[in-house]
Amino acid sequence: MIPFNIPPCVGTELDYVREAVEDNRKICGDGPFSMRCHKWLQDSTGAQKALLTTSGTTSLEMAALLCDLQPGDEVILPSYTFSTTATAFVLAGARLVFVDVRPDTMNIDEAKIEDAVTERTRAIVPVHYAGVGCEMDSIMGIARRHGLLVVEDAAQGVIASYKGRSLGSIGDFGCYSFHETKNYSMGEGGALLIRNPEHNDRAEIIREKGTNRQRFLRGQVDKYTWEEYGSSYLPSDMNAAYLWGQLQSAGEINRDRLASWSRYRHGLSDLAADGRIGLPFIPDGCEHNAHMFYIKAADLAERTELQAFLKERGIATAFHYVPLHSSPAGRRYGRFHGDDEFTTKESDRLLRLPMYYGLAAEDVDAVVQAVYDFYARRSATTCEIQL
Ligand SMILES: *Cc1c(COP(=O)(O)O)cnc(C)c1O
Repeated sequence: MIPFNIPPCVGTELDYVREAVEDNRKICGDGPFSMRCHKWLQDSTGAQKALLTTSGTTSLEMAALLCDLQPGDEVILPSYTFSTTATAFVLAGARLVFVDVRPDTMNIDEAKIEDAVTERTRAIVPVHYAGVGCEMDSIMGIARRHGLLVVEDAAQGVIASYKGRSLGSIGDFGCYSFHETKNYSMGEGGALLIRNPEHNDRAEIIREKGTNRQRFLRGQVDKYTWEEYGSSYLPSDMNAAYLWGQLQSAGEINRDRLASWSRYRHGLSDLAADGRIGLPFIPDGCEHNAHMFYIKAADLAERTELQAFLKERGIATAFHYVPLHSSPAGRRYGRFHGDDEFTTKESDRLLRLPMYYGLAAEDVDAVVQAVYDFYARRSATTCEIQL
């Protein structure tokens, strides 16, 4: 059996968790391990501020609150994304305006964004699908022309870059996820990156139950008081300790994943050249992080058969994201601007293959072989039908 995902573990994590509990005796948020993770994230992304959160979802919620939305304000995002890209902004009071994706990267189509901007638009939320950067130069240009904020959903984009800049560090806010299905993990967790230091104080207040506890701890104020709305967005230092082990081995994890990714890419290239399947596309200037490897079947029916065939061979695969605009909540909270030319059609075709840190080369080869076998069998039946 080849699983779809195994949570990453390099081997140092449990020692760090033990250190947090037994040596530091600090297991609440913002302990020594959280501080190390903050510094690592700032140094590796160039963001002036990084704050750990309890999930990618709560990073998005913090970003949405920091956008200071008013009822009726609109946010532009792709429909092909995880539900919480949207719910974070719904909780903050926004209306959602969905825009189509590009079929090559499955990222929001930058050429279709500007037409969706109205007087009520306040923010654009690009999602870096599969850790492949959106066309950020165009998106930042649109934001500048219309005075909009940009919140990058970089949940899948840790240690990936666009024209040399880390995903998550380009827009006003960047949101990372350290869920067990992501490249680097702490079980459940995430981080918020902040570009403009003007937002730092408010971000710290929102993250600390609406209080100025951070300023108090730094000795900048002599009273610790309730300043404004907020919630509890700090993860335990035990979780940060686990993440610290992963971040220290980030280079190794990244290399390992990229090796599996390239092996899939190379192994499946003949099928793609024959036009049987579609493969991921990495635009010039994007360095990806092998967050996922997907293939595209001809259509939904073929994908369904392929998935069942692989399952019989003991290979677990996944598809995802029923487009949000066609979900019950998506219809209630938003609208699709323009035509759904690719979102539904391309999401129906996409199948994610097993991808995780430590995936064996033989297992990649076995998956590749199984995909070839499926299409070989399919060609045979097609020929019979034609005869
Ligand atoms: C995983 C993911 C999230 C949510 O992250 P959690 O840590 O699971 O809350 C949001 N957006 C995208 C695109 C994701 O892949």
